[in-house]
Amino acid sequence: MIIVVDSQADSDERAQLIEVLGRMLGTLRPLTVTRTREREVITLDSSVLDAQLQVALRQLPAVADIVQLQTPYKLVSRAFQATNTLVEVGDSRSCQPVTIGDGEPVVIAGPCAVENREQLLTTARAVKAAGAQMLRGGAFKPRTSPYQFQGLGVEGLKLLAEAREVTGLPVITEVMEPGMVETIAEYADVLQIGTRNMQNFPLLLAAGRQGKPVMLKRGLSSTIEEWLLAAEYIMAAGNPNVILCERGVRSFDPQTRNMLDLACVPLLHQLTHLPVIVDPSHATGRRELIAPMSRAGIAAGADGLILEVHPDPTTALCDGKQSITPEELSVIVQEAHLMMQLLNGMFLAEKVA
Ligand code: PEP
Ligand code: MN
Repeated sequence: MIIVVDSQADSDERAQLIEVLGRMLGTLRPLTVTRTREREVITLDSSVLDAQLQVALRQLPAVADIVQLQTPYKLVSRAFQATNTLVEVGDSRSCQPVTIGDGEPVVIAGPCAVENREQLLTTARAVKAAGAQMLRGGAFKPRTSPYQFQGLGVEGLKLLAEAREVTGLPVITEVMEPGMVETIAEYADVLQIGTRNMQNFPLLLAAGRQGKPVMLKRGLSSTIEEWLLAAEYIMAAGNPNVILCERGVRSFDPQTRNMLDLACVPLLHQLTHLPVIVDPSHATGRRELIAPMSRAGIAAGADGLILEVHPDPTTALCDGKQSITPEELSVIVQEAHLMMQLLNGMFLAEKVA
């Protein structure tokens, strides 16, 4: 249930609403007040207020509307916001800003990990020349084994900022712990929350309390509902700029690294107004599958792709088997735009028929 606060309400009327809700709910329920793009709302679990209490609430001057939603997630729900969320990435003073969700496929590309200055700057320039609009690169790497390369840390963040200055590409990088959110947000244009941290609730809240957009990757074995509830944490904490990223889920078959769930893309567009990016690199783990699954991702309705690129994938310190070359990236970028044009034409034909 969402209570929409009347924008004309004065501070006494707002205080009255909070006080009445506090009495109705008791101390066990959190009261979540959020300012979304368009309005101020209070979000509650639907089960907590019966019909009579709702009638009483509607009488209060600070209540503009009460929206009933059947799903456990509220703010991310398409039923709450019918229009697509467009996420604006990057500050024009430091890079070429990008809009995610406006109908043009956005390609984010770069190495799995920032390895050194030369590797990053060479890749960043090549990624830009290939037509990608954003640069990715891990500075803090969540590695399965503690003996693997863990990333360059803050030094990697500085290199990403330098690569942005050189190329004009906005950068995205992963944040793994709440205490690092502010530092990462100083350098990055988008904060990435990786699959292993999808349900790290303190991290979701910290990312929700800062101003940069957040890309939330699907958990290793998460249901769509768990994923949307994780996105809800970020939005409820005050950040409306959330991008979902499908990166494959655990399956029984070791032939591919994960199972790319492309059906979730059109389904997510029904369930939520948030943009959806597909990551064929971590989903398949196999270089030769990246181009076909990129085409398939766009065909399924993704708002963009995130791809791992390395100038020499055989020497990559991390995820070389799934990394493509800049030349391969260039073909994928062109195909993504062609695919989008084709789809727009098909939808046009559907409307005409
Ligand atoms: C990544 O994109 O760098 C990454 C580690 O991906 P995931 O969290 O999906 O495994
Ligand atoms: Mn990787």
